[in-house]
Amino acid sequence: MTFYPASGPLLGYGVTVTSELLDAVIVGAGFGGMGAAIELKRAGYDNFVIVDREDDLGGTWYVNHYPGLAVDIPSTTYSYWFEPNPYWSRLHAPGEELKRYADHVADKYDLRRFMRFSTTVEGARWDEDAQVWRVALAGGETLSARFLVTATGYLSQPKIPDIPGVENFGGKMIHTANWDHDHRLDGSRVAVIGTGVTAVQLIPELAKKVSELTVYQRTAIWVVPKVDFPIPRAVQRLFARLPVLQRILRFVTDVLSEFGISTAVLNYRKTSFVNAGAAQLSKAHMFMSIRDKDLRRRLTPDYEFGCKRTTFNNDYYRTLDRPHVHLETSGIERIDPDGVVTADGRKVVIDTLVLATGFDLWEANFPAIEVVGRDGRNLGKWWRDNHFQTYEGVSIPYFPNYLNLSSPYGFTGASYFTMMECEMRHMRRLFGEMRCRNAGTFEVTEQANARYFNELSERLGDMVYFRGNCASSRSYHFRGDATIVRPKSRRDTVRDADRFALDDYAIG
Ligand SMILES: Cc1cc2nc3c(=O)[nH]c(=O)nc-3n(C[C@H](O)[C@H](O)[C@H](O)COP(=O)(O)OP(=O)(O)OC[C@H]3O[C@@H](n4cnc5c(N)ncnc54)[C@H](O)[C@@H]3O)c2cc1C
Repeated sequence: MTFYPASGPLLGYGVTVTSELLDAVIVGAGFGGMGAAIELKRAGYDNFVIVDREDDLGGTWYVNHYPGLAVDIPSTTYSYWFEPNPYWSRLHAPGEELKRYADHVADKYDLRRFMRFSTTVEGARWDEDAQVWRVALAGGETLSARFLVTATGYLSQPKIPDIPGVENFGGKMIHTANWDHDHRLDGSRVAVIGTGVTAVQLIPELAKKVSELTVYQRTAIWVVPKVDFPIPRAVQRLFARLPVLQRILRFVTDVLSEFGISTAVLNYRKTSFVNAGAAQLSKAHMFMSIRDKDLRRRLTPDYEFGCKRTTFNNDYYRTLDRPHVHLETSGIERIDPDGVVTADGRKVVIDTLVLATGFDLWEANFPAIEVVGRDGRNLGKWWRDNHFQTYEGVSIPYFPNYLNLSSPYGFTGASYFTMMECEMRHMRRLFGEMRCRNAGTFEVTEQANARYFNELSERLGDMVYFRGNCASSRSYHFRGDATIVRPKSRRDTVRDADRFALDDYAIG
């Protein structure tokens, strides 16, 4: 066994602290990192760590716990296929159930012993001579591993808006990714900046408590009704006893969710009538909820349905029609210590400022840490000098033994779990071949990557982002001519993951 010097003490969480060469470092203990860990274990690797800067597992579902948080696609679909949960309390489970599900997966698949929390990864560099990754942790320590997997998610780097004066606000300021449940909101004056998916979930809950709620909208959002209902205990017990019943429900929710993304996003060229129909549905929903015509006008987006993440909610529009809830659309000029001043010079005095401003995806997240591969190629720079690109959403030429699970063109299917399970399938085939050949390294070839990139590029023209009217949507789903969503159906992606040509990789 090869040993490398470790520069300082390791803060462990059930991990045996050694300075040996690890099989792998996985960055991120969310569902992505846990899926990768399960796959590594299946492939026979047992000497790896999952590092996370947080002090617990679950990623998104540990960090986010704002009021109203719930999944926005059915829980039967938003879960690992190989680990169904019969006990979802609703069709769209609340956030805390997802955290419990993450804990359950970690326990059942014996993943906790690999996890090391409160550990921030700063960067990783491929050491060509030793053929290992050197992974730099905040504090100066370096881990060495044969494989590096980054599972840092798309929505994990909170975005603080660049509004003059925001840092001088004198009241309480809360980002939705860091909710403070001890802060009492009852009867107070609150402003929410942002009207994305998170805000749509949060605003109805806040409105129940506060005396005045002002919502600052930059970009209106299409909201459609959410089909949601509690799942009675008796039905949960039935699902546990007869899992096939839940499989049938999952089949239905999978098909419907997949239909949504494949029509409204991927194949807009042929099925734009779906987008038009969904926009009409949203308008009807708004009409039924809001009496004020001017308010409806201000809430109506001027871009196509499908440009942004689909938003389901039954209370958002109704809440905005309540007398103590106010929608501001004239743009924020600055934040004063006691309130928010809009471009037309009006000031609203508040006690609490809620930043529902989401996450920095393209700048802070691609990649989330500095990654330097073979010949000193810097991933972030290379992506920006060339196009954002990844082979099958996971690997990049010049980055041997590296998989990036939250890549451009990575997202596939309606549920994040579809994407993660496709990545797991990809890993299974790749690591299976490595084992067969008794090999130590893999690297996707430049030709395979270019071929794949060209194939995707040809399909971009069918997507709503480029064929529809998305210019004013400020959607994080695309930037320039690059997208988060892979322009391929779930079926094609599964097939690719199961059958990609093994000589697309140089395996040695
Ligand atoms: C509020 C919210 C609701 C969502 N709802 C849905 C939904 O309904 N359906 C859906 O399909 N998707 C949804 N998503 C997307 C969601 O992010 C994924 O579904 C999924 O949970 C992401 O899993 P992940 O493991 O890839 O990333 P994450 O869960 O984001 O985990 C990434 C982990 O990496 C860690 N990390 C990042 N950088 C570093 C670093 N430098 N060093 C150490 N650790 C680091 C983070 O601390 C985090 O724990 C939602 C996202 C958010 C934010």
